[in-house]
Amino acid sequence: MTNDTLFIGQNYIDGAWRDGDTLLETFNPSDLDEQVGRYSKASPADIEQAMDAAHRALPAWRGYNMQARADLLRKVGDLLIERSASIGRLLAREEGKTLPDAIGETIRAAQCFHFYAGEVLRNPGQWHDSMRDGHNIIVSHEPVGVVATITPWNFPIALPAWKLAAALAYGNSVVLKPSSFVPAAAIMLVRLLDEIGVPKGVVNLVLGDGRIAGDIMIDSADALTFTGGTETGRAVLQRSALSMTKVQLELGGKNPLIVLDDADMDLAVSIAANGAWIQTGQRCTGTERFIVGDKVHDEFVERVAKEAKAYRVGHALDADTQIGPVATAPQFRANLEFIASAKAEGADLIAGGCEVECRTRGLYLAPTLFANTRNDMQLNRHESFGPIAAVIKVQDLDEAISVANDCDFALSAGIATQNLRAAEQFRSSSKAGMVMVNAPTAGLEYHVPLGGRAPSGFGPRETGTASAAFFTEMKTAYINHGVI
Ligand code: NAD
Repeated sequence: MTNDTLFIGQNYIDGAWRDGDTLLETFNPSDLDEQVGRYSKASPADIEQAMDAAHRALPAWRGYNMQARADLLRKVGDLLIERSASIGRLLAREEGKTLPDAIGETIRAAQCFHFYAGEVLRNPGQWHDSMRDGHNIIVSHEPVGVVATITPWNFPIALPAWKLAAALAYGNSVVLKPSSFVPAAAIMLVRLLDEIGVPKGVVNLVLGDGRIAGDIMIDSADALTFTGGTETGRAVLQRSALSMTKVQLELGGKNPLIVLDDADMDLAVSIAANGAWIQTGQRCTGTERFIVGDKVHDEFVERVAKEAKAYRVGHALDADTQIGPVATAPQFRANLEFIASAKAEGADLIAGGCEVECRTRGLYLAPTLFANTRNDMQLNRHESFGPIAAVIKVQDLDEAISVANDCDFALSAGIATQNLRAAEQFRSSSKAGMVMVNAPTAGLEYHVPLGGRAPSGFGPRETGTASAAFFTEMKTAYINHGVI
């Protein structure tokens, strides 16, 4: 028994919390008998009102005092840290990641607000001499406008946070639609923005089904920042083309880790296991393909399988849990189907591949490893987005890089090697947007660009100062001083 209460969430439109027209419920993936949240979905009319409110609020927010804007963002970060234990617990109950991961994610959300509080004061333009006497040229960066913000379920607070913090820092207004599977943490974030006095209409939140909400938002927004699956990304890109809405898409991955024969095997096994199974494999940058040199192949398979089997899978709130449940029932079913089809196409199941019994009725899946697989198997072509990895044996570095790049995704890629020349060859020839040397394919920092190349990403990068390319528009002004 705990004191956890039912979380009731509403839509936040033009500075007011409002019920919508239909109900949405969430259940704890660690314990399906526990309802976590009850929400009301925004109607299409509500979503239109949220977009209108964001458009109305934009001019005043663009002109809002810089220091006051920076102070607001910093305060959000401070309060997120102060409340990270309670928000993290709610997040762990609704998404299923372990409590330390959920608290850590909340603190990461806070750090993003702190970072962008600084960026409010650092949005420099350029001054140029002109080819014409008596003229000069100023290039300034203006807010892009109303930003539709659509997020997935796997980082329920960090993702809304790094998008909102950047949008607000550069003077934009926002309509946020979090995933319907895990909306509580995003609502907590918006409650906090409301509490500290962000002007009404600057941030709006709507809960709803992806396509219906998405279409309305895209049609009316100046820009769309979207994180989710690649197929959904294609759909939103098509829709955005009609209204010419500027897009930033962060999409799926099928990330490889190359383990060369000269790798430090302790390190290689540890980064492989971390990349594949931590957070139940539900990180877009998680490792799904291990590409391993033939001389170390057998040792690697044996040792990494041992790691997979040693993980304690369990309730997200239990202190000894290392891997929580799969976050949603559809995802759990998809993971089981993925495993069944991998077996059917001839991959050898080395570890996991089955449900795990725990003290509660949850969506528990054992960390899973396949070996003796080929890169052309479906197992190695499609993103599982679960705790499932496969080993592919290769002869040398050239073959390893070619297999790593022979993939429909290009998000993150890693190599374990002690050879600097091999590391550099991999770094420069990988087609992934993010490349890791002797580090897990997952685990990103918020002060540098995040993103993949198509079809893992499309448009300007997010996080760090790179996000200015998306959240601002350049204006070039030619000034003739000669007549003034
Ligand atoms: P999803 O694509 O199903 O949903 C993402 C969001 O889009 C949700 O809010 C959903 O309601 C909304 N949506 C669905 N259909 C829509 C439509 N037609 N128009 C507009 N919005 C729509 O993704 P998911 O299952 O929530 O998340 C998992 C996926 O996200 C994985 O593929 C993962 O790799 C990816 N992801 C990528 C990154 C990254 O930075 N590249 C980060 C996290 C997750």
